[in-house]
Amino acid sequence: MVNVLDRPLRAMILAAAGNSAVRRFVSVHGMRLGAARFVAGETAGDFLAVARRVNHDGFAVAAGILGEGTRDEAGARDATEEYSALLQRFRVERLDANVALKVTHLGLDLSPELALQNVRRVAQRAADCDNTMRLDMEQSCYVDATLSIYRTLRTEGFANVGFVLQSYLHRSVSDLEALLPLGSNVRIVKGAYLEPKGVAFQEKREVDENYARLVERSLVDGAYTAIATHDGALIERAIAFAEQRGIPKSGRFEFQMLYGVASPLAKKLVARGYRVRLAVPYGDFWFPYLMRRLAERPANVAFLLKNLLARGGA
Ligand SMILES: Cc1cc2nc3c(=O)[nH]c(=O)nc-3n(C[C@H](O)[C@H](O)[C@H](O)COP(=O)(O)OP(=O)(O)OC[C@H]3O[C@@H](n4cnc5c(N)ncnc54)[C@H](O)[C@@H]3O)c2cc1C
Repeated sequence: MVNVLDRPLRAMILAAAGNSAVRRFVSVHGMRLGAARFVAGETAGDFLAVARRVNHDGFAVAAGILGEGTRDEAGARDATEEYSALLQRFRVERLDANVALKVTHLGLDLSPELALQNVRRVAQRAADCDNTMRLDMEQSCYVDATLSIYRTLRTEGFANVGFVLQSYLHRSVSDLEALLPLGSNVRIVKGAYLEPKGVAFQEKREVDENYARLVERSLVDGAYTAIATHDGALIERAIAFAEQRGIPKSGRFEFQMLYGVASPLAKKLVARGYRVRLAVPYGDFWFPYLMRRLAERPANVAFLLKNLLARGGA
């Protein structure tokens, strides 16, 4: 989330993500211009090299294959297979890594039933590999369908599946209350999309306050809580809360950050004995992901432009 002054810029960047000329330009030149700071690469091989290095540095990994809004069944099936193959690979290589996927990548826009079948296959493979997986949260129009898939899998006995709640959404507090009885594993984020004020808080202060409320409620309930933010103040608040309540450093919660963002903070947390997982994305469909990272911190646009100028144009 950004401050009030940044908001028009953020809206512009997210709107530009839908512009085909911008998409063409960034898709051709973006990786060279700096997208590689946020994305492990375009292939599973690129990703695995980063995952091994990151594990070696003391971080767990959440793998994300870049893709969303899949328009055909074959694409959704391919993504399902690729996630399943990754899980197998993690087991063979004994990597400290799980997967986090977008249900629209696995076919939600085609049919909720197809998405459920595909997600179930990944969940089954994760269970076979003694591993976990998580459903990322996308735009607010997908929240009901995503949580419904989560609920179905939990009631079918998949205890290895987690979900995500976004603190910018008004509904998240009641979603959390409804899902805690399932013995949940929840990642709390602020939210990366442009949402209208009817559904989402618009002020950073409100988003942050709701973030802390969700984290604390989840910790108190005993749900496994993934505190996914680069916001140092909220991280310290969560640590202080856990200490006050006698919640141990391991087994009840972890911190999560995005690959390429706030690395010094992530390293300090590992040095203090906390579990930290980096979300490491890869794949050739990196354009919307990059645009969301730029919108979160418009200074990142300057980082890309600086690279462009240094190369004398692209
Ligand atoms: C592991 C993980 C998983 C996520 N999954 C989802 C999801 O499923 N659905 C969803 O909607 N969102 C997801 N997000 C994104 C999230 O919603 C926010 O958009 C993002 O984390 C930025 O918010 P923040 O919590 O870091 O706080 P902010 O208040 O935005 O940022 C705090 C500080 O972090 C640094 N920072 C933040 N973002 C960047 C950046 N892009 N580049 C450089 N510095 C930055 C800045 O120093 C900033 O001052 C995820 C984030 C993480 C870390």
